[in-house]
Amino acid sequence: TPSKEGKMFIKALFDYDPNEDKAIPCKEAGLSFKKGDILQIMSQDDATWWQAKHEGDANPRAGLIPSKHFQERRLALRRPEIIVQPLKVSNRKSSGFRRSFRLSRKDKKTNKSMYECKKSDQYDTADVPTYEEVTPYRRQTNEKYRLVVLVGPVGVGLNELKRKLLISDTQHYGVTVPHTTRARRSQESDGVEYIFISKHLFETDVQNNKFIEYGEYKNNYYGTSIDSVRSVLAKNKVCLLDVQPHTVKHLRTLEFKPYVIFIKPPSIERLRETRKNAKIISSRDDQGAAKPFTEEDFQEMIKSAQVMESQYGHLFDKIIVNDDLTVAFKELKTTFDKLETETHWVPVSWLH
Ligand code: 5GP
Repeated sequence: TPSKEGKMFIKALFDYDPNEDKAIPCKEAGLSFKKGDILQIMSQDDATWWQAKHEGDANPRAGLIPSKHFQERRLALRRPEIIVQPLKVSNRKSSGFRRSFRLSRKDKKTNKSMYECKKSDQYDTADVPTYEEVTPYRRQTNEKYRLVVLVGPVGVGLNELKRKLLISDTQHYGVTVPHTTRARRSQESDGVEYIFISKHLFETDVQNNKFIEYGEYKNNYYGTSIDSVRSVLAKNKVCLLDVQPHTVKHLRTLEFKPYVIFIKPPSIERLRETRKNAKIISSRDDQGAAKPFTEEDFQEMIKSAQVMESQYGHLFDKIIVNDDLTVAFKELKTTFDKLETETHWVPVSWLH
């Protein structure tokens, strides 16, 4: 489906260097790109190699990139954590088929069996990030704001940044009110600190997929509902949400048009320098128990950020390194200003 003046654009969800690609017919003809780049498709005539150029590139010469189909299949075969399973085995001897598949995973050099597999449509490649068709989108003045999802490892300063943003303009930014099954404390009011509900209702809501995320703490449930996001947006506010990156997948709908910001730690050296006297709240369940950062906390933060970026990096719209808090906050502010006024690339599926 052509999106802009008959042109088709895709967002690359992986890094690509034709010089490292053994399968490309001619390395010089390849187009290199990075995760997040926007490419314009010039030709999809060939099933294996598409022709594309970088969006906005005045040079009319297109380069070769692996087609979605081709890339999905070879990536799925290389990544054992992705379930690659035959869906239809009726016209093959299933044991022989499985053996050839196992071989191709164990030995990456067995190209024969890889290409044999490529021909069939028997693999579940839903979780293999390759390309996503995108289209330019700009928020209209009367339109609801987009949901902004903040993700990042524990201790990176995400809550501090969120708090600064909220107090910078309380009319403009809003956060969700969580649900809980614990009893209301005397100074609390329903709908302010929490929405207080019964265990039975909470469980029913969980079953009906009403929650984005939930957890248990001291025999009570706590969770963030989808409706709580809706009610912030309905007040004509920007909704700030911090969740685990795996929940983002379910929020990527036309209704929320989530913009995902990854708050990334700086190098371990900079962490040691800048967080020397700071304290860490090690987890949601340890609220109030802030302790000075240890060397292990820094290592854990870096490790966790790396895992998040490699697993969910294709879902991030923006990466902000929180080295100096003031600088990171300025960058965050600028990001929000641009989000509300400039044109951004969003999946085509959001506009239909
Ligand atoms: P309290 O009962 O003292 O208000 O909070 C207990 C714990 O529940 C805290 O550690 C708090 O961070 C956690 N909590 C509050 N809201 C949510 C939520 O929406 N989801 C999850 N998973 N935990 C929450």
